[in-house]
Amino acid sequence: MESINTLFEKQKNYYKQGKTRSIQHRLDALEKLNDAIKKNEPRIIEALQKDLHKSEFESFMTEVGILYTEIEYVKKHLRKWMKPKRVKTPLTHIGSKSFIHPEPYGVALIIAPWNYPFQLALAPLIGAIAAGNCAIIKPSELTPHTSELIRHMVQETFNPDFLSVVEGGVETSQSLLEKTFDYIFFTGSVPVGKIVMEQAAKHLTPVTLELGGKSPAIVHEDADIKLSAKRIAWGKFINAGQTCVAPDYLYLHESIKEPFLKAFEQAIKELYGKEPLNNTAYTHIVNEKHFNRLTAFLDNGKLRFGGKTDPNKKAIEPTVLTDIKWDDPIMADEIFGPILPVLTFDELPDMIDEITNIPKPLALYLFTENKAVQDKILAEISFGGGCINDTIYHLASPYLPFGGVGNSGMGSYHGKSSFDTFSHHKSVLKQTTRFDIPIRYPNTKNGLKWV
Ligand code: NAD
Repeated sequence: MESINTLFEKQKNYYKQGKTRSIQHRLDALEKLNDAIKKNEPRIIEALQKDLHKSEFESFMTEVGILYTEIEYVKKHLRKWMKPKRVKTPLTHIGSKSFIHPEPYGVALIIAPWNYPFQLALAPLIGAIAAGNCAIIKPSELTPHTSELIRHMVQETFNPDFLSVVEGGVETSQSLLEKTFDYIFFTGSVPVGKIVMEQAAKHLTPVTLELGGKSPAIVHEDADIKLSAKRIAWGKFINAGQTCVAPDYLYLHESIKEPFLKAFEQAIKELYGKEPLNNTAYTHIVNEKHFNRLTAFLDNGKLRFGGKTDPNKKAIEPTVLTDIKWDDPIMADEIFGPILPVLTFDELPDMIDEITNIPKPLALYLFTENKAVQDKILAEISFGGGCINDTIYHLASPYLPFGGVGNSGMGSYHGKSSFDTFSHHKSVLKQTTRFDIPIRYPNTKNGLKWV
């Protein structure tokens, strides 16, 4: 494969030719991407099965289907988004008009993680194409079958001077980060996010950082217990908990702890059966390192449910741990696996205090019908995005910008937000030449002066 330097220079030159800017080029490229995904669907599902033991149902719902919806939405609205937008002009600027022109940044770099390795490499690409950029994608090396497939698919579909995939691990990623990209879109962990931002700072390249964090699921005393148990179990154990917006820990009102945990066990059984380790629809852990990291948490607190593991398959049962304290190792960082620690609270302010003592989470899920409680949590806890009475669903709406805040990231995407993220919004004032107002010039008298 040609070197990163050559590829980067070719993309820079291609971008300069202006071909990526027309609406037709953008729409055609989005259509081609859609067709390529359709054509490769069976291979995508096979690669995800090999890399993560993902079921066909989950692969379609969380990796492929979500991309079709996004492409369709972007295609439908692109023409409107691309138009320069006329905005108001203050009286002091009489005679002139004001416009905001969205323009592509140029050549974008997209670095993707392994947990939704197909979707998280291509969802940002939709935004990059829609905004008229060239792009290089660096998929995760931890999911090699999916990475290879993405490279093959993009190579087969697009001119590499326009869109390309560079496969590889940390060193490849670092070599790419040495180049002066016009935009960097990174999805991954907090420590690597900091490295990416540091590299980007050397070139003053703007970044979006889609990171992670400890996202709480709070269940208040009045919540619908059965429904909240089902929705939290689904959000936590989909992809075996390896989801950036998975509920990381459960915060239960003390008064409903027992009924909730009973309903939760029942919900897990309904979702994955009595033997999840033998369930073909249950995702496994990506590699041995993460398997060992996760199994080390199993002696934290008290095992309430699950806890069995299979090292050969790298699978861990949906597991619930109670009697957890904030200084237990499982509460130190994002868990990113199918183990759910449970904390309880009696008073809202104490619970809010604990959550706001740790870095701002990517998501927060609150289960209550009480509007005053909803308002209080929304007003007092900062988080990237989330749901009231559900988990994860906010991520699948093109009308809701998706992203983190503080340690969970910066910037956002999905729907129009993706277009905006990959566009520079150029402000232009169009001044009249019919007259000139002298007050701004020194030594002139007030009043209009016709030129
Ligand atoms: P990671 O940070 O280890 O790796 C992400 C990408 O960065 C990979 O392509 C990897 O090759 C590259 N990379 C790794 N180390 C690097 C380095 N030192 N310099 C340059 N590049 C480097 O993340 P991961 O383990 O693949 O993914 C899991 C993390 O991603 C979790 O923290 C999760 O919360 C987060 N995540 C966030 C979102 C989101 O949308 N906010 C989505 C998925 C995952």
